[in-house]
Amino acid sequence: MKRIEDLILRLRKTAEKKYSPSESLQLLEPRCKICQDRGVILLGEVARVCACARQSYLENRYQYANITPEIKGCTFEGFRLDYYKGSNKEMAAKALQGARQFVAEYLQNPRIPGILFTGDVGAGKTYLAGAITNSLLRHEIQVFFLVVPDFLDELRATYHKGISGEGTDLDDVSLLRGVRQVDVLILDDLGVHNYTPWTCNKLYSLLNFRLNFQLPVIITTNLTLGELEEFLGERTTSRIVQMCRIYRLSVDKDIRHLKNKNGSLD
Ligand SMILES: [Zn+2]
Repeated sequence: MKRIEDLILRLRKTAEKKYSPSESLQLLEPRCKICQDRGVILLGEVARVCACARQSYLENRYQYANITPEIKGCTFEGFRLDYYKGSNKEMAAKALQGARQFVAEYLQNPRIPGILFTGDVGAGKTYLAGAITNSLLRHEIQVFFLVVPDFLDELRATYHKGISGEGTDLDDVSLLRGVRQVDVLILDDLGVHNYTPWTCNKLYSLLNFRLNFQLPVIITTNLTLGELEEFLGERTTSRIVQMCRIYRLSVDKDIRHLKNKNGSLD
């Protein structure tokens, strides 16, 4: 008897899945308005891979770099300036303005400097990087949100697999190639990490490639430039300074306990 009940339940669930109105609606309306979900667009006689296909390829490839629901909720409008006081408020307003300006300028010309958001933990750096990400995605720009410590761990794991023979160095190369060439790369939480000369080198080559091809990077860090130099070395830090406008965010420690959307992210 129990078995039949289970079976009916399962069948009902399957039927619901099959015939749910939201799903049939999805079948009628393609998610990508550019390629109608074909993944390819024709430009004259040339077939090009659509940005949506590249984006979903990257999202699948970099599970760990998925944009979390928390990041999805970040918007310029939702950035709480009232969280900041005095000079911190002026700095936050400048950072917000810089973030908005980046998106507006990027849509006109993608070869523009990126941004380095530096400052205290909980000061809203990741929130602004998230707001930039969402704004660009809405304009169908290919963005990749990388949480740096996770990325470095993943790189190192691939590297070790390569050494032990389980994987190949090709994995490592394609892992890097994907993020290297993305239109806009977000490097969130570039900070204290157990950097080896190898990971430092990989970070340098990633930034150097993007500088050479004028591909912008948005970086958040709670380190000062001096500290960045200490951890990443002079040549990597000088690349960052060359390719980014710098905005500082700071919060009054006394109001840190105030629950705030901006602050809950970093
Ligand atoms: Zn598409």
